[in-house]
Amino acid sequence: QGELAMAKTMEKATTLDGRTIDIYANLASQEEAEQAIALGAEGVGLVRSEFIFMGSDQPPSEQSQFETYCQIAETFGDKPVIIRTLDIGGDKPLTYMQQGEEENPYLGCRGLRLCLQNVDVFRLQLNALLRARAKCSNLQVMFPMVATMEELNQAKYLLNSCYEALQHSGIPAVMPKIGIMIEVPAAVANARQLAEEVSFFSIGTNDLTQYVMAADRGNDRVSYLVSAAQPAVLRMIEQTAQAAREAGISVGICGEMAGDPKLTKALIGMGVSELSMSPNRIAAVKQAVRATESKQATEQVQEVLRASTLKQVMALL
Ligand code: PEP
Ligand code: MG
Repeated sequence: QGELAMAKTMEKATTLDGRTIDIYANLASQEEAEQAIALGAEGVGLVRSEFIFMGSDQPPSEQSQFETYCQIAETFGDKPVIIRTLDIGGDKPLTYMQQGEEENPYLGCRGLRLCLQNVDVFRLQLNALLRARAKCSNLQVMFPMVATMEELNQAKYLLNSCYEALQHSGIPAVMPKIGIMIEVPAAVANARQLAEEVSFFSIGTNDLTQYVMAADRGNDRVSYLVSAAQPAVLRMIEQTAQAAREAGISVGICGEMAGDPKLTKALIGMGVSELSMSPNRIAAVKQAVRATESKQATEQVQEVLRASTLKQVMALL
């Protein structure tokens, strides 16, 4: 029976009416890669590349980053591996990039904002990613904390200029598929425009929830607000999924909610096609996908999206 369950874990997750949902892992270290595969991951929806940068007082070299990205991508063979560019700031400080303390670090210079202000460090990472993509065709790149079109344009411009410089020097480099995280409410409002410029969206519901609800997820006194099943958050996810659908790009979830089997049906109903989670959640979520009828989920989620309270949402789920 153990073997049977194991075989099921390794199989793709398809709904009762034949829609396949990609089930990916979130990784925050290289060591987790093998284990994620053993637990049924069909790719990586989020490599939190911060782990390469933390624990030292200087940035990792382009070469060591190149090697790490290749190693992770190669572990997954031809399965997609999405590497998120450095998302420092907020709860993850880094001495050599940040100057001084911020009063509101979550609302400060973090993620892509910080990288765009430290172009030298950012270029090392972009070069390493472009070179790794030349070696591993399954590697994709995702920018965190995008709020505006200007930020996305700047990031893409920089990636492009790195690509051209590498080519000019005769170093193998290939442009990866590019996506962005949707985790700032402004990005939801700008989703239609942003969707025209990228190949995929990945919704970061951890940060999106905290920013939509204006509630710090580490603060117990407001924890009743910090749920991705809040009607306001669900409507934001729906809006993002709709923008992606209209633009013909894919949309996934890489926040914690992706690993909650209670929410799987609602997410499928909203048109999400990829769920990326902690590897230990994969078996349960695959099971939830297999118990779902996609057509029915699409109808039922309309009722969920009309709910006025978190309690009502939870009762419907
Ligand atoms: C998120 O914000 O949902 C997310 C996946 O990113 P992180 O938790 O690393 O901020
Ligand atoms: Mg985030």
